[in-house]
Formats: sequence, C-alpha cells, structure tokens
Amino acid sequence: MSDVQWLFLVLAALYGWECACWVRRGSVAFSTWLGGNWRVRHPGNLLGNQRGGFIFAAPLPPLGTLLTASQFPFSLSPDGVLAYVATSVNPGWRPAQSEKFFRFDEIREVSVRDKKLLVNGEDLLTLASVSLARRFAAELRRLAKAIPSQREAAIAELVHATLDTKAADQRWQELQPLARPVRLLGNVLFVYLFVFAPGLIWQLGFKLSWLGLLVGLFALTIATAMFFHRAHRALHPQAGDERFTHTLTILLAPMTTMRAHDALSRPLLETFHPLAVAKAFLSKTDFRDFARRVLLDLRHPAQPVCSSANAAARATELYARTTLQSAVENLLRQSGVEPEELCQPPAPMDESCRAYCPRCGAQFTTPSGNCADCGGLALVAFHKTG
Ligand SMILES: [Zn+2]
Repeated sequence: MSDVQWLFLVLAALYGWECACWVRRGSVAFSTWLGGNWRVRHPGNLLGNQRGGFIFAAPLPPLGTLLTASQFPFSLSPDGVLAYVATSVNPGWRPAQSEKFFRFDEIREVSVRDKKLLVNGEDLLTLASVSLARRFAAELRRLAKAIPSQREAAIAELVHATLDTKAADQRWQELQPLARPVRLLGNVLFVYLFVFAPGLIWQLGFKLSWLGLLVGLFALTIATAMFFHRAHRALHPQAGDERFTHTLTILLAPMTTMRAHDALSRPLLETFHPLAVAKAFLSKTDFRDFARRVLLDLRHPAQPVCSSANAAARATELYARTTLQSAVENLLRQSGVEPEELCQPPAPMDESCRAYCPRCGAQFTTPSGNCADCGGLALVAFHKTG
C-alpha cells in the first residue's frame, strides 16, 4: 500500500473513533440516520464496562443525529440528598453508586470539580458533563437554603421538569436552524476528504494537489468552527469551557469537525428523563414498549432496593422513587396510555411457564422463586385460567 493510501486508512480509522460515543449507565441515547425512525440505544456490555458503554453514531452522510437523556442521578427528599437511585432505565445491572447521604441541614457548601459534584468538600457523584454538574449543584444549593416545607414542591417541580415533553420538543426546535449549517459543512467535509481528495490525488498526484487540498480543508474547518461556536453559544450559553475546547478541536482536527453536530445535539436534552425524549421522538408502539419497561422498573425495582444502613437515606430513596413514579404515571395518562393497562402481566409463553418476573418479564417453569437478573426479585405466579 502506498503512503497516501495509508494516510486515508488512518483518517478513516480516526473518523470511526469519532463516531463512537460513550454513554453512561442511567442514560439512554436516541439516534436516527436519515431524520425519521428514531431508535433507542442503551450502553451495551459488548464495548463497555460497569459504568457505561460505547454506541456508534451513523457514520455515512447525512451523518445522523444523536440525542442523550438521563434519569435523575440522585434521590431527593425534603430531608436530604442520596447519591443512589434504585431505578435503572437501562436493561441489566444497576451502576455502582456511593449511597452517600447528606441531610439538607448539614450541607454547608456545594461545589463542582470538573464533572464531579461535591458536598462539604466530599465527592457526592460524577455527572455526564460539566454543565450537568453545575446545574445540579445550583439545584442542591437552592434546596439546602429553602425551608423544609418548600422543598417538597421544589422537588416535585424538578422531577416534573425532567418529564416535560413540550420543553424537550422546544429545545429540539431551537436546535434545527442552528445545527443546519454545521451539519451541512460536516457532510461537505466528509465528501471532500473521502471522495474528492483521493480522486484529485489519483488524477494529479500528491505533489501537485496537497497544497490546494490543505487550503480547502482549512476553509471548511474554519467555517464549521465559526458556525459551531455561534450555535453552541445560543444553545448552551453556560457551557463556556466546553465550547472553547470543542471549537478548538473542530478547528484543528477534521475528523472531529465532521461530527461537530453531535457536540451540539448530544447535550441538548441531557436534563430530561429518557421517557420524555422517548415520547417526543419514538413511534407510538416503541414509546409504549419503552414506557412499560420504565414503569415496571419503578414499581418493581431490582433487589436490593436500597442497602444503606441509614433509615433517613432509605426514606429518601423511597420518597424519590414514589415522586418519580407518580410523575411518570401522569405523563403516561396525558399521553393516552393507561399505566395499569401498560403493566399487564405477560401471557405465558407455553404451558410449562408457571411464573414470571414482574420487572423484566422473564418466565419460569417453577410456581415461585426469584429472578437472578433482577437481584433476586420474587416471582409472581401466573393466574390459572379454567
Ligand atoms: Zn427479572
């Protein structure tokens, strides 16, 4: 293989790496290639670890769109904050969590270090982004300052905001005009680098074409960086540090430039619960499937639900889960989905199936027992008919 062929092979490999996105457990990605037909993407265990996994954005033009949404990262009650949530929006295991608990009346200081949220100088938990860490730090400060009787309403409002599908849709509408030139330039750059440049080098040779190609490349990356900066400032005004790093990388690394639109869309809906994004983007059937899993997990969380020795911490977990469950059921009813109907037990797959797991729906030939996948959750027997 010639040096030029090697160069393009390396560029293609680097581009492939740029298409990989790390998604933490507790988050869900929603992706589309051509603009319709959105798909749910969970961090898999194939390319990942206990904390998350890689998913891949559509590599070919029109380069697709990727959104991410996360469940609430900690449990809140009028008493305090617990670095633990019993629910898991992804199939499979619950990510490791510190279960640190702080009563609001003990909180003297809430600070942020990179993506870490610290309470009284002690690590509480790590968020998916610096902006999220800052946002939750502000909310915790506000709750700590509020009088206890105000906290209940403030927490309900916070949970409600994460499920606000209208607000999610509005953010999406804001993204469209700002992301359009960035995506267009990304597509132009893709064709330029992977079609036009090899063609020109093949026709004229490397010596005659490299300077012109380099000038064209810089023109494209500079234009993309400018449009990106403008769009990012409008969409994520608080994320100045992230904007600086992204803009610089887009300017200097053409493989990142092609995926600049991902850096605009990925954090767009990160403050929303995945169910709100599912409602806004998935088909009716896919939304129902997704909602069923979320609701069953809320009603029958994997065992142990909360192993903290602190009674106030366990009460906070229960409070947070109950608040979220009632908000989720409200959203479903508003969407024309009856929660009880959605949570109907599955039909036995065959005559030998005697019981099922109320969380994951796995079926068993014994009339009682526990589901190992759900931490030992007790099975429910199928009702005998006839
Ligand atoms: Zn199960």
